[in-house]
Amino acid sequence: AAKEQGRNQHRVFDVRSHVSRKKKLQVVEQISAALEQQQFELFLQPRINLRENKVEGFEALIRWNHPERGLVGPFEFLPYIEYTEYAADISRFVMADAIGKLQSWQAEGQNYSLSINLSPSHFLSERFSQDLKDALADCDKSLCSRLTLELLETTALDDASIVIKRLKTCRALGVDLSLDDFGTGYSSLDYFRRLPVQEIKIDRSFVTDMLNDPDDEKVVGAIIALSQNFHRRVVAEGIEDEATRDRLLEMGCYLAQGFYFTRPLPSAEALAWADAFHRGG
Ligand code: C2E
Ligand code: MG
Ligand code: MG
Ligand code: MG
Repeated sequence: AAKEQGRNQHRVFDVRSHVSRKKKLQVVEQISAALEQQQFELFLQPRINLRENKVEGFEALIRWNHPERGLVGPFEFLPYIEYTEYAADISRFVMADAIGKLQSWQAEGQNYSLSINLSPSHFLSERFSQDLKDALADCDKSLCSRLTLELLETTALDDASIVIKRLKTCRALGVDLSLDDFGTGYSSLDYFRRLPVQEIKIDRSFVTDMLNDPDDEKVVGAIIALSQNFHRRVVAEGIEDEATRDRLLEMGCYLAQGFYFTRPLPSAEALAWADAFHRGG
């Protein structure tokens, strides 16, 4: 079913053998030119505080404005460059662009937070810490704390000593950490509680259909309880209707993203969307 596909989709990021050689070569050949020509853009999806009915920040989701193919989504190119040197190149672009957005919001007196998605191979590599330090070089403490780095739960399950070391470096730099697509990996509770992350994002494959699937709702409830017991923020992604929003609020999950509110939008449109949302529009 579509749900199972959703659950499996992120694994493409981790399993090198899933990507066809030919397609991979085609994509890889185009990436550096695309970076030079600034064809990548961060779309933003608002994150809503359900209790306050407020946009508290955004998640940055990369898009490729391809000259022939039009707007290309991340699943059509990121899996092909993961484990190549381009994963780090894209990742540095994402960090720099996100920090630029936070700086310009700060200059305008907006204190929105911004979440970015980490490339698994870049995060695990030696150069990651230095790249993050360089990207944050001109940032004050309050700006650093508005940047959240989302790490896939499945990436957190790689070499534990490396993962924990990297996460601690990020914390020392003052950025916030989130475990993305939670529920799709095989974290032990003992490992989970040792991870220095401030937030968990419930994978949308459990959220979207939870009102029709009692098992999904139980998983969502269990993750909310886990986050409360261990004092982590919890965010639900994939809210597609009002009833699911209402149910999450009842269950104690106060942060949410999803098509019910809006799809990811180009930056200026996302900010305008937030303004309209706050005016009650
Ligand atoms: P993610 O981080 O879990 O992001 C959520 C994905 O779910 C996004 O897909 C978003 O558009 C989609 N989504 C949000 N709300 C809904 C909803 O209500 N219903 C449905 N069906 N989908 C919803 P997108 O933008 O295609 O990104 C897919 C994945 O690609 C992301 O999953 C993330 O793992 C990865 N990704 C995106 N941008 C970046 C990036 O800049 N760097 C890296 N390394 N990975 C990225
Ligand atoms: Mg994410
Ligand atoms: Mg996610
Ligand atoms: Mg995902």
